Amino acid sequence: MNNSIIDTKPTILSSDVLIIGGGGAACRAAIEAYDQGASVQMIVKGNFGNSGCTLYVGTSAAVGPWAMDEDSNDISLKDLVSYGGFLANQDLARILIDETLDRVTEMADWGIEFLRDENGDIIPHKSAEHTYPRNFTFTSSRSSNHEYGSPPGIAMMDVLIEQVRAREISVLDNVALVDLTCIDGKVIGALGIDIQSGTYITLRSKATVLATGTYSQIFSPTTVSVGETGDGHSAAFTSGADLIDMECSQFVASTTSHLLGATFINARGEAFVENYGTNVSPDVAKEDLVYAIAKEMKAGGATKRGTLFLDLREPLRDEAVASNFLKHFRQRMKYDPVSAINKDIDPRTTLVETSPAAHTTIGGIRINSRCETNISGLYAAGSVAGGIYGLARPEGYTSMITLVFGRRAGVFASNYANHQNDQIVDTSLESELVRQSKSLVSNKSGSNPDHVKASVRNVLREFGWVIKDEAGLKKGLEEIRKISDANSTFMGSSGKEIVNSFEAKNMLLTAELLLLGSLDRKESRGAFFRDDYPSTDDDNYLCNIVYKRDNGTITLEHNVPDFKHVTPYI
Ligand SMILES: Cc1cc2nc3c(=O)[nH]c(=O)nc-3n(C[C@H](O)[C@H](O)[C@H](O)COP(=O)(O)OP(=O)(O)OC[C@H]3O[C@@H](n4cnc5c(N)ncnc54)[C@H](O)[C@@H]3O)c2cc1C
Repeated sequence: MNNSIIDTKPTILSSDVLIIGGGGAACRAAIEAYDQGASVQMIVKGNFGNSGCTLYVGTSAAVGPWAMDEDSNDISLKDLVSYGGFLANQDLARILIDETLDRVTEMADWGIEFLRDENGDIIPHKSAEHTYPRNFTFTSSRSSNHEYGSPPGIAMMDVLIEQVRAREISVLDNVALVDLTCIDGKVIGALGIDIQSGTYITLRSKATVLATGTYSQIFSPTTVSVGETGDGHSAAFTSGADLIDMECSQFVASTTSHLLGATFINARGEAFVENYGTNVSPDVAKEDLVYAIAKEMKAGGATKRGTLFLDLREPLRDEAVASNFLKHFRQRMKYDPVSAINKDIDPRTTLVETSPAAHTTIGGIRINSRCETNISGLYAAGSVAGGIYGLARPEGYTSMITLVFGRRAGVFASNYANHQNDQIVDTSLESELVRQSKSLVSNKSGSNPDHVKASVRNVLREFGWVIKDEAGLKKGLEEIRKISDANSTFMGSSGKEIVNSFEAKNMLLTAELLLLGSLDRKESRGAFFRDDYPSTDDDNYLCNIVYKRDNGTITLEHNVPDFKHVTPYI
């Protein structure tokens, strides 16, 4: 196999299409841009094949040959749009539903396999948010080596990486995006930094695709990988790109997967989930369960550590279930402080301490059906982009956005690049970006970025968690702004420290946006809950919140989506 990873990194690189990220969306965009004839450069924060959340994918969804006769893309679209509280951009949602099967078929052509029954039929699975069983599970017979992940996500990444390598696409791993190079409202590349050496790398490109994943690292605990600090969101927003639905982040009920037959127990030792009119079963949507748990914790059911317990003894009697579960259970301890509390326990005999965890984000960079942002030359794909679902996402389509919108970003970015004249080079602008970047980090003084990150997570845990209210959000916003004001420069000099500082700065911005939007949305809808406004308010909030930045000022605008395919409540 051809290994296209560059070991010695140049300080200036040019390409038609620059792709930032190394997960599913980035790989799919790179493959497509290359196939369209563009020269492609990828940069990845972390090791290629060992970063991002695509590696975690469990099941994916599509109306495929495994679906029931009565199922259709129209019904699936209706499920998606209504589950998201009718705030999906229906053009994007339609594309996702209509194009997923083609992308899955293509993955099969590239060698991915599926979980099948003894007759060779793909096994469908129904998750609560879908009317019919649509979820399927990727598998692979390749024996690859990843530091983390679950088999279906690993299978996806293996196939995509193989395709990237077969095309000899240039991949710089351990290079992080610092900022976008922007001139006259047009993105002409980016500044990257080599995490190991601390060397800045100027990346010149005609088109740039952001595929940097979520910003859920502003929360703790979270299920997302360590690098998801909102770098793409921050760079896009400060360059003038609009963001959408940033107030909405999805949570899951537990840091540890809650197996069928598990029971949530509060600090007083009581099972409580049924008191909230719900239960722990595959028929219950994630949002109902997480709401019940968060409500119980707010009502005094949490331990002093802000946790509760999960009784897994019954489901773990099954040895096959136990062996699979224990592998993931131990893996999580490396990344997640709540899971680490359980390091000395055996969940087959002892209750597991747990908490809801921030999962994928719902909002992100605002794109159109060509994955264009409102800044020329800047594209976004995958979980960094928002607007596709509205305010909640049905299980299985989040993995498919990587393939569908990754491919689209590749098509339209390379098309755009093809119509540009020679690359614009502005060395003074490039030097200014390096100067600005250096001014954020000082060797001698400044704040510790790890402390700032911890403060952001503490504020959001207290004031921006699953269920929010006006007083808490105002306090949270005040706290985040105080932290921002007090920490304008960071201490450090190595590449790792510089990247850590940028991450802290990006987390402060995305946290501020999340709190601002949460204050603005005075209702509950989809995965967004306000204790003081528990009902859905269609009169005032059947709209997306669009986040804009003009001359350094943040403004929020309400935008009513076009209900062209699915009319609310019909
Ligand atoms: C625990 C877990 C389980 C999940 N299970 C499912 C499931 O069962 N079904 C489903 O459909 N979806 C699931 N998802 C969601 C799904 O994994 C993601 O939505 C999807 O894979 C996102 O792909 P992506 O390419 O957009 O981002 P990612 O795969 O997260 O990749 C982001 C990439 O950007 C890179 N990056 C970040 N910042 C920078 C920077 N500054 N410079 C350069 N590179 C950068 C990262 O290193 C990484 O390579 C799950 C998510 C999690 C966290």
